[in-house]
Amino acid sequence: MTADDGTAFLIDTPPEMRLACVEYGIDKVDAVVITHAHIDHVAGFDDVRRFNTLNGTRVPCAPGDPLYRGLPYRIEGKPMTCYAMPDTIEQLHRIFPYISAEGGENGLFRPMIEFDPSGSFTLGSVAVERLNVEHGFPCCGYLLREASGEEEAGVRTLAYISDCHVLPDETLGRIHGVDVLVLNCLRERPHPTHLSLSESLAYIGRVAPKKTYLIHMCHDISHAEWLAKLPACVKPAYDGLELRACS
Ligand SMILES: [Zn+2]
Ligand SMILES: [Zn+2]
Repeated sequence: MTADDGTAFLIDTPPEMRLACVEYGIDKVDAVVITHAHIDHVAGFDDVRRFNTLNGTRVPCAPGDPLYRGLPYRIEGKPMTCYAMPDTIEQLHRIFPYISAEGGENGLFRPMIEFDPSGSFTLGSVAVERLNVEHGFPCCGYLLREASGEEEAGVRTLAYISDCHVLPDETLGRIHGVDVLVLNCLRERPHPTHLSLSESLAYIGRVAPKKTYLIHMCHDISHAEWLAKLPACVKPAYDGLELRACS
């Protein structure tokens, strides 16, 4: 996601994150925001270190320097800030025990991560607030508010809720009338920790967003079948979908 001021950030780092970055030309990431540590949301976390390099600086390096690798410079990677709930941060440390804000002693990157458990923060011109949801355990989504832009454009808002089976009333109140709702919808059949189609549609009715994109669907039915089942203002998301502010 890219803010109006150019700040770019990822929400979750799934298994094919690197391939997606290559496919869609994502060559700038300033921060990472994680919903939870299930492996389908964090398996690509290690590839964040490429952005430590891209965001880093070249410093002169000569023979005799312990970090000299045959080039007149070395890259000093820039740590990436990762925003997540405290429990999720703990789980990420267990899955990736080598994560650190520092590079390795031999100059190799780990990746370099600075964790921030804050429930609200800003990423460039976007204000981000954590949204409490239930996913068989206390989990979260995020409400994004683009503050910059023309006055008449108003505040542009997007709620991103990937994995959940319950949206508490407090969260429904905070996202009511949002411009875009991105919402979990696993399948038509019920699931103990994900929303089914009828449950998602019921929540969409209560939130009353201008537009909704369903995500995290399984393979029970095809994209075309989803399209046929959904009301006009609700669409199934797809790889490479681009949303632009004010559109
Ligand atoms: Zn999950
Ligand atoms: Zn998931």
